[in-house]
Amino acid sequence: METKSSILNSQFSITFGSKRIDFQLDFSNRKSLGITVTPDLEILVKAPIDATIDKVKEIIRKKAPWIIRQQSFFLTFHPKMTDRKFVGGETHLYLGRQYRLKIISEKVENVKLKGKFIEVTTLDKSKVKQLVNDWYLRNAKKKLHAIAVELIEEFRKHKVEPSSIVLREMPTRWGSCTAKGKIILNPELIKAPKGCIEYVIIHELCHLIHHDHTQKFLDLQTREMPNWEKWKMKLEKLLA
Ligand SMILES: [Zn+2]
Repeated sequence: METKSSILNSQFSITFGSKRIDFQLDFSNRKSLGITVTPDLEILVKAPIDATIDKVKEIIRKKAPWIIRQQSFFLTFHPKMTDRKFVGGETHLYLGRQYRLKIISEKVENVKLKGKFIEVTTLDKSKVKQLVNDWYLRNAKKKLHAIAVELIEEFRKHKVEPSSIVLREMPTRWGSCTAKGKIILNPELIKAPKGCIEYVIIHELCHLIHHDHTQKFLDLQTREMPNWEKWKMKLEKLLA
């Protein structure tokens, strides 16, 4: 689902209510207008060669509510990280809970959870960020994998399973599923509550059966996780 726009496309926009909708327009030999909203929130429009710009804009305006819905759907998967300074007392999230950083001067470098704290021991304060991020990644590998294994097991009833599960930092998404059935998870998910992690994994597992976000896809996702909307909303708010 990686769509990168070509430079040849031309950029247009319409206004809908208070919103401005930018879209890339591309003419081709086709009968009707096609609109695609990419996971990066771009709007790609393919129009028949004889369509006028005004006609295209009129159709986009009619389709605006649908376009906005699609964008807000994808927006859920855009992790919003605020800049942290990695100084003592600062709040950091782990599995949906808030912990404060406690930095202790000690020769042995280590990071661990202790009560309401993420305790970091090091003599070099400039290394705190790296140590904490390495710790997050180690835990992401362990925990996300453990949660995924259980859900994959449940999904066997549909006679599907992912070819593999990998972690990869993605600036704009929480997870994705390739055409070959590889599920990619954003390690930042380790900061979210377990329900949010389950939601993202279930969402990607459902893509093994339905590759886009059609009603059939949504029906399956709802059967697998009836309260998915609640977790989707939490995920949206969590890292804002
Ligand atoms: Zn999806």
